[in-house]
Amino acid sequence: MSAIVHFECRNPDHLRSGSRRGNGGLVIHHGSVGYCDGMHVDGAHRWVATGGIPIEYLYDTSAPLDAGTYRASGGALVHVRPARNGALLVEVDGAQRGHGSDIELGAKLSDDPNWPDLSDARVTLLQAD
Ligand SMILES: [Zn+2]
Repeated sequence: MSAIVHFECRNPDHLRSGSRRGNGGLVIHHGSVGYCDGMHVDGAHRWVATGGIPIEYLYDTSAPLDAGTYRASGGALVHVRPARNGALLVEVDGAQRGHGSDIELGAKLSDDPNWPDLSDARVTLLQAD
């Protein structure tokens, strides 16, 4: 069940600060629920009435990149880790340095950002008598 939001914050400084994607940001405003999408903002919200809409309507829900391991289009593994400041760190295994090309992410392999690449794993046989 999603929260119904009656006011949204339109403070330009808050809108520029990066989206919190509905993670927190709810404020009780005159007894109704307000939502500020800004990250690490002060209390100088500029409330605009929404008429009462689900919170998902107030931020971009398209293709959220979350922590985990992805397979890139070129076959490399891409590890996405949350950083302390709420941003995401992206590391590419075996990336060719200096090309500056975009990497297209494919399927998500795991929610674990440390998922190992086993595609080159060799089978080792243990000797047994
Ligand atoms: Zn705000």
